[in-house]
Amino acid sequence: MGLFDRFQELRAAHGQIKACGADPFGVKMDRILSSTEAEIEGRHTILCGSNNYLGLTFDADSLAAAKASLDKYGTGTTGSRIANGSYDDHKALEQDLADFYGKQHCMVFTTGYQANLGAISTLAGPGDYLLVDADSHASIYDACRLGHATVIRFKHNDPADLDKRLARLAKEPGNKIVVVEGIYSMLGDHAPLKEFVAVKKKHGAYLLVDEAHSMGVMGKTGRGCLEHDGVDADVDFITGTFSKSMGAIGGFLISDHPDFDILRVACRPYMFTASLPPSIVASVRASLARLRAEPEMMTRLWQNVDTLYDGLQAKGFRLGKQRGPVVAVHINGPELAAMAWHGLLSNGVYVNLALPPATPSGTALLRCSVCAAHTTEQLEQVIEALGEVGRQLGIIPAEDGAGQV
Ligand code: PMP
Repeated sequence: MGLFDRFQELRAAHGQIKACGADPFGVKMDRILSSTEAEIEGRHTILCGSNNYLGLTFDADSLAAAKASLDKYGTGTTGSRIANGSYDDHKALEQDLADFYGKQHCMVFTTGYQANLGAISTLAGPGDYLLVDADSHASIYDACRLGHATVIRFKHNDPADLDKRLARLAKEPGNKIVVVEGIYSMLGDHAPLKEFVAVKKKHGAYLLVDEAHSMGVMGKTGRGCLEHDGVDADVDFITGTFSKSMGAIGGFLISDHPDFDILRVACRPYMFTASLPPSIVASVRASLARLRAEPEMMTRLWQNVDTLYDGLQAKGFRLGKQRGPVVAVHINGPELAAMAWHGLLSNGVYVNLALPPATPSGTALLRCSVCAAHTTEQLEQVIEALGEVGRQLGIIPAEDGAGQV
């Protein structure tokens, strides 16, 4: 058997998608014009799939902080956090985040993916149990594979199913760690955190919440779904990323657990990779400071969420059930979704084409993400372009509001 033979099925599926137009997984942004616009294939394009929820990628303070840091510290740390890669700013960012979440401890990782990989694979050891939501992000599943705990999936957003599975483990001595996401990355739905907290308390389990898509989005001050649901004090571990509302890259793990710091010399995805470039650390510190000073930035984001959600619903699209900055448009099948995606790009609108296995339950999606910096005109263009493409491809009927075909 040839080395790449096992990818034949994947190659065929990818080939079919490419045959529908351009390669959705090979898009090249030729120029980035702002946090909401780019030039792609010579065309001015509205970015509506960038996870840049607060539009901070060109924030003046973040840019200035990053530039000053480049001059002060150089381009990179060239080492891991436990060798030469912990600078004063890495420690300061950890303190900023711990303060923001009102918790004792924080570790900063080089990506959000690594934060999940490190946190989950290290917290749960041999003899322990990881109970993960079935719709979990790839980084959570990969963390399960990296660690040595027994992994049990429970039904998506279903506290009763979790309760049942934890009850079966009642006599097992190992620790039980429940892993959920605040907002789910593909369908944009939210975890019922209050109910999950009640279940984890009942069984003496720990709860880890990945707030990747909810930091800077949910809650009065932007601390995410746990703040929105009033369960800050009951969540044992929080992971998150700087690659979405913070407009940069990096990840974090937060907790009040008194023994937390041992993780710094036990967690391999923290220990054996180079730390974040100081310029990134500086820009994230500035973005976080901006969010803390101006949480009302989120008001504009939510106005934009309503504009896009209402506009697409009025056109008759079938959307993810819960409102939020991830607006998932359901399409019947990968090929149709790929054609729609291509049609949109040709009309100057970029969204994400999301297909199985990255999506739950085999769904094909045009995944839109809303930015606080989107203008109403831009969102109206997105809605019009989607309507046009949807009508052309028979995804929605010719008349607005008649429901998805
Ligand atoms: N968790 C979730 C829920 C995500 O959606 C993502 C990225 N899309 C990550 C973690 C990983 O974050 P990063 O891109 O910063 O590695």
